[in-house]
Amino acid sequence: MAGGKGKRLKSITNDEIPKPLAPINGKPILEWQIECLQRNGILEICIVIGYLGEKIQQALGDGSKLGVNIQYYNEETPLGTAGALAYLPHFVKGEAFVLVYGDCIFDIDINRMITFHHKNNAHATLFAHPNSHPYDSDLLLINNTGQVTGIVAKNTPRGKWYDNIVNAGLYILSSKVCEDIPKGQPTDLEKEYLAAEMQKGNIYGYISSEYIKDAGTPNRIQEVAQDLSKGVVAARNLQNKQKCIFIDRDGTINADSGLIHKIEDFELLPFAADAIKLINKSGYLAVVVTNQPVVARGLCDTKNIEEIHRKMHTLLGEAGAYADAVYYCPHHPDKGYPEENPEYKIPCECRKPSIGMITKAVEDFNISPQLSWMIGDTTTDIQTGKNAGLKTALVETGEAGQDKKYNAAPDITSKNLLEAVRQIITPRHCGLDPQSLCIATD
Ligand SMILES: [Zn+2]
Repeated sequence: MAGGKGKRLKSITNDEIPKPLAPINGKPILEWQIECLQRNGILEICIVIGYLGEKIQQALGDGSKLGVNIQYYNEETPLGTAGALAYLPHFVKGEAFVLVYGDCIFDIDINRMITFHHKNNAHATLFAHPNSHPYDSDLLLINNTGQVTGIVAKNTPRGKWYDNIVNAGLYILSSKVCEDIPKGQPTDLEKEYLAAEMQKGNIYGYISSEYIKDAGTPNRIQEVAQDLSKGVVAARNLQNKQKCIFIDRDGTINADSGLIHKIEDFELLPFAADAIKLINKSGYLAVVVTNQPVVARGLCDTKNIEEIHRKMHTLLGEAGAYADAVYYCPHHPDKGYPEENPEYKIPCECRKPSIGMITKAVEDFNISPQLSWMIGDTTTDIQTGKNAGLKTALVETGEAGQDKKYNAAPDITSKNLLEAVRQIITPRHCGLDPQSLCIATD
């Protein structure tokens, strides 16, 4: 969809080129997009043009120099974000297709998303991700089976605590969408088509850590240009092995007041958001792995845990930080307490120091354990990291390693989470193996 006027980019386009031709590091946005599609084997492309569309045709022609076939559909009267789709059934020919808007830069493993789309038999799959400003973004509500159950627009009332899942604006749509959209009338994809279809359970959210960013303002173009130069955009593609910092929760991210099971008992430690923000900018994933036996003990249920995690996401988001994922173990092996919840009083593979949560994340995000770290405040965390083949950092908050359950020496010891992250991502040059032996003391 490349027909928009792009008023906010006027200082770059000077109204002589349309927004999708705005250059980033010397290459138009559309070309960055088509190159990613081409690498994913998506070779048939239809560009919906409008404002200054002839410039796009001149620049890209039939697509042969980019290794794709391009057709054009000229939208003479703008029909909103989806109206043009009504005129494209002959192009999509009964197949699912990718819908991309001409102002974002992405590098994603699209076939992974297409597999997800077909597995769910979805009418539409939305690319969803956490971002660094959820408080002023449209949020997606996604249930445990992956269905989108609501879109909470920015500036509308939302729950006090919310998950940081944002619609990135890239879609897989079934060909049926082209038939469902009425001809000749403006249609908003999100507010009209998707809002109606999600009531029927036909819309799914694909949550990913891959790079996609709207480049619709001069500032954003600058950020994206830097990310492209640093290699962050390509590195996040899930076809590439990811490096990850796994983080324990209680005593590492939040104060450990003991068996936290009430929402008011969860408070971030003062440096936690800065630490996670640093991870977000570093190219490492930030994944929380936490034992929550409070469920097995009958102190609360999994809904309460998830609400506590919504509080964590909200507080982190207010500070510009986000966790790429959270895994928790609700189990506990020891039976025989009066209030316990027997369903969860079982031995399991996920309770640390077992590595079930890490194995799951490694699979979900194509993580290389050798390139990754575990940070925590207990010897259980350090033992978990060792069991999973990760490097390990002990923090001197929470238990500060005094639980003494395991005789496991960490690779580094740090004052707190922020210091640990600094040591991991900016190793000191002390002449020794920078990743394992340097211990910063300031
Ligand atoms: Zn478990």
